[in-house]
Amino acid sequence: MSNRLRMEVVIQGFPGKTLLGSLSWSSVVYVEAGKHKILFDTGGPSKRGRLKQHLGNIGVAPEDITMLILSHFHDDHVRNYDYFPQAEIVMHEKEYEWGRSRPVSSFAFPEVYFEVIQKTRRVSLIRKDEEIAPGVCTLFAPGHTPGSMALVLRVPDMPVTVLAGDAVKNMAELATAAVDMSLDNSLSSASIRAIRDIAEIVVPGHDRILKVEQNAISAVTEAREGVLVPPDVMEPGKKVLLDLVVPITAMPITPCIPNCPCTPN
Ligand SMILES: [Zn+2]
Repeated sequence: MSNRLRMEVVIQGFPGKTLLGSLSWSSVVYVEAGKHKILFDTGGPSKRGRLKQHLGNIGVAPEDITMLILSHFHDDHVRNYDYFPQAEIVMHEKEYEWGRSRPVSSFAFPEVYFEVIQKTRRVSLIRKDEEIAPGVCTLFAPGHTPGSMALVLRVPDMPVTVLAGDAVKNMAELATAAVDMSLDNSLSSASIRAIRDIAEIVVPGHDRILKVEQNAISAVTEAREGVLVPPDVMEPGKKVLLDLVVPITAMPITPCIPNCPCTPN
């Protein structure tokens, strides 16, 4: 417990869905714990360039990464795993089994199919939650997918921080424990409550960095992204930047309903 951690949100997820129905991009977080250089999730296909750039900005090369933690097998979280040639690839055993059973072309990314990822000979499966580096523990958090896994960072002089993946996609889910786009809503709700009970800070799969207060969840950061429209499309001779901004907001935590199984009698 005497170790210090370095944590950098390399890509911050964005809350919201496009009108086509897909979630926006997901969070990627770098954690340095002793000799371990860990990346929690690797982002979707459109984020490969930014991933490289932002890791470079914090002085980390892809070959420096010793461990990739894949929160779950969805395309928007794991696509760039092949960009880290030295890294041990760590995931929950139940996710591995589920990913293996998915048909090719399902949303579980086919290239992360059993045979391909197995060929890397760098896969380690988590069967029971464990400390994978000093102050860094896995947390089984099923529901969104059968083997979704979060990471808990717990060291002195740092708020207890949970990197949630899509076990918690956004502020509303953390505050209400109500979810959508989950394979098992009640398991998801239980996972969210478990995370809320231990976390002071949560980095969700698709939102800003969140602070857990006694009765409320508040964002610590805003989410900002731009869409650049080429010259002449909107204005003659000029590019136009369309700003997407989700400001710093807060919302109350929804108390458990009466007789909720998570409420002690
Ligand atoms: Zn997902």
